[in-house]
Amino acid sequence: MKILVLNSGSSSVKYQMFNAADEQVMAEGIVGKIGDAGAYLEHKAKGEKIRRDVIAMNHKEAFQVVIDVLVDKNVGVLGAVSEISAVGHRVVHGGDKFFASTVITDEVIDKIEECVSLSPLHNPPNLLVIKEAKKLLPGVPQVAVFDTAFHHAMPEKAYMYALPYEYYRDYKIRRYGFHGISHRYVSVRAAEIVQRPIEELKIITCHLGNGSSMAALDKGVSIDTSLGFTPLEGLIMGTRCGDLDPAITFFLSREVGLSIDEIDNLMNKKSGLLGISGVSNDVREITFQAHSGNKRCQLALEMCAYRIKKYIGAYITVLSSLDALVFTAGIGEKSPEMRSMVCKDMGALGIELDEKKNAEVMGIESIISSAESKVKVMVVPTNEEKIIAIDTLKLAEEEISRSEKGRT
Ligand code: AMP
Repeated sequence: MKILVLNSGSSSVKYQMFNAADEQVMAEGIVGKIGDAGAYLEHKAKGEKIRRDVIAMNHKEAFQVVIDVLVDKNVGVLGAVSEISAVGHRVVHGGDKFFASTVITDEVIDKIEECVSLSPLHNPPNLLVIKEAKKLLPGVPQVAVFDTAFHHAMPEKAYMYALPYEYYRDYKIRRYGFHGISHRYVSVRAAEIVQRPIEELKIITCHLGNGSSMAALDKGVSIDTSLGFTPLEGLIMGTRCGDLDPAITFFLSREVGLSIDEIDNLMNKKSGLLGISGVSNDVREITFQAHSGNKRCQLALEMCAYRIKKYIGAYITVLSSLDALVFTAGIGEKSPEMRSMVCKDMGALGIELDEKKNAEVMGIESIISSAESKVKVMVVPTNEEKIIAIDTLKLAEEEISRSEKGRT
């Protein structure tokens, strides 16, 4: 079975072509800058990487670019589009309607549409590509894998906000959590790496990228996570502020005179590492400048690490103990400096890095704690596409066997 995995953002469509027979990635790439005259395609297959300008004024055209390159005579990997057996879509927000991956029917599309108000930036491009894929690949099973689903088992006391109860009842205002596909992948790998059943483990996963979140996992189940109703709460991110006193919003409105849209933009696009450093949202640049003596860059790194530390402390108490602390995503995988700052002086909690090992690890699976550390600290590069392919394969096989039975 050949599975097309699609991850559609507001201005990009990332794709991977998976061969389930040998679990190999046949091709992968991205159509970026959708809607812009500078739209481009990056495509990797057969050991070669190409980049070319493309016309992709919308997600429909971007999807056509993906299909065209996959069947291209020179750089493609398919003889014909009909070789695609199933399509897996990453869908950001499943609200309280989806607790697991699901085959996409018209009813599922309607329900994803109902979640648009919860994720106005992410769900619309997901829906556009789902609809286009259904049109261009009729009869091919399509599966939605939700970023929120992994956190569905959080207890009420963890997902409720202390607003009057009717705001939860009437408007579904609650913590949903995100990055679930990534937290799920790295926790499963972490258990495999320490060679223990996940059902025996208490794990904290730190997905530290441009967007960041942490999750407390008991027996492989997410019991709390730092992103909330939207991907703004929790850790300090590239351009997002994370936790702050909600009354700052009233102050910005009444005293500074900002509109709601300006506050939204400020907190989502101009805050976080970028806002504090005044330099960049990229930890590489901020670390470089901090080493050159830029105090605001140093402060940005320290604040970021301090917030992560506080969440580790909180999650150890709700888990009551800890077996593994996992770092993933761009910063978690590739910034030894950030990992070191986070784990500094945590010996009392059983967390102790092997600093030499940590300094050597960049984007590869590795245990980076010392031999004496009670908690295994590790780096696990995330692979959301693999989880999407696994769920898509399982559900598509069930769907195909159901429709074959229906015919007999
Ligand atoms: P992601 O959202 O997972 O793609 O992560 C992107 C972020 O990872 C970037 O904005 C950088 O802050 C960070 N990053 C990527 N490579 C490195 C690196 N070599 N060292 C430090 N941070 C990095």
